[in-house]
Amino acid sequence: MLDFSDALGLIIRAAKPPPPVDVPLKSAAGRVLAADVKSASPLPRFDASAVDGYALRAADTSAASEKGEVRLTVTDTISAGTGSHTARPGTALRIFTGAMMPKGADSVVMQEHVLRDGDAILLGKSVSPGANVRLKGEEFQKNALVFPKGTLVTPPVVGMLASLGKTELRVYDLPRVEVIVTGNELLEPGTPLSPGKIYDSNGVTISTALRALGLSSVRVHRVKDNLASIRRALRTALQRADIVVTAGGASVGDFDYIREACEAEGVRLKYQTLAIKPGKPNMFGTRDRVLFFGLPGNPVAALLSLHLLVQPAVCGLMGLPNRYTGGFSARLTCGIKKKAGRLEFLRGVLHADGNGTYVVTPVLAQDSHMLSGLAQADCLIHFPKDAGSLDEGESVTVTSLRWSLA
Ligand code: AMP
Ligand code: MG
Repeated sequence: MLDFSDALGLIIRAAKPPPPVDVPLKSAAGRVLAADVKSASPLPRFDASAVDGYALRAADTSAASEKGEVRLTVTDTISAGTGSHTARPGTALRIFTGAMMPKGADSVVMQEHVLRDGDAILLGKSVSPGANVRLKGEEFQKNALVFPKGTLVTPPVVGMLASLGKTELRVYDLPRVEVIVTGNELLEPGTPLSPGKIYDSNGVTISTALRALGLSSVRVHRVKDNLASIRRALRTALQRADIVVTAGGASVGDFDYIREACEAEGVRLKYQTLAIKPGKPNMFGTRDRVLFFGLPGNPVAALLSLHLLVQPAVCGLMGLPNRYTGGFSARLTCGIKKKAGRLEFLRGVLHADGNGTYVVTPVLAQDSHMLSGLAQADCLIHFPKDAGSLDEGESVTVTSLRWSLA
């Protein structure tokens, strides 16, 4: 039985991204930048008004407090999208949000703060230099690093890149995944059940979890517990995919054929059991560039293994830097017990206590066939391998159970 951290290390080392591709900006969301993005121009590109009001020279308003008011003639109107205006001393220009500042003006007074009197405005207070102006280059200077390689392309990232005028991005292709669920007992949800049969939930949970990571090429195949059928499905999957995931048949029962099928199809397994609970029968291997995961069949074990082991591999192939931080601390609201020897991932719910400290409560349905417990949980409690019990109030490591990358 391999330790979880060693397994994770093997997976992360094996999961390297393929050569990058160029894709249109519009279809880049959910992928990862394969190169640094620098700004080809300053942002904002020009000094602009941040409000609807009047552009002026602040110095022209400095007498307002002594005199009670200052009067400036309004000479022109600047709407967003036009340029090349000039503010002469003693004048103001009507200006709107996002419009280019006229030459000579250094500030904008909000329209709510002046009185309009024919072709002039009256100000009761002086304006500070630079007020309500967005300065050229205040967000990025030309050639500044905007996003480093390894950035996940999210909606705001796409927006920033559009502002920079980008139409194409260099990113990593998303991995294609083939999922094979095995079991003579499995039927398609909705079809009539006969004695001993159950509905296949792993097919849909695994594919949904992979799609939630942003993957679009995910196919699920359901096969019987039969070596020839499993070998055939595995062979095809290994040809088509970057990652092959099987669920079920990974243990040592008479109908568990995954290990044998892997050996026959040239998958080199790096481990076959893990010192974790749930998820002891668990395999990882490679065939050339393809990563193989043999997950256990129990629905909670399968989905948690996907979260803990396959998700880091997906991130690696996507070019996303490893974000596993080892979690954070929370205090237990009740004591917990187990047999020493395996790292247990209890499903928990996090709260903050009155002092702003995290506290965590294990959910009730902890068995590895009880998906309802996982559905309620928002975190995993890491119950250390060698510990047998932890008391109420003790600190444990917790990691959040997020199903998406963004
Ligand atoms: P196995 O790992 O094949 O021995 O399966 C362990 C347990 O998980 C058994 O109770 C199976 O019936 C159940 N199981 C396996 N695959 C699925 C699936 N796709 N959907 C729901 N339950 C499953
Ligand atoms: Mg089975």
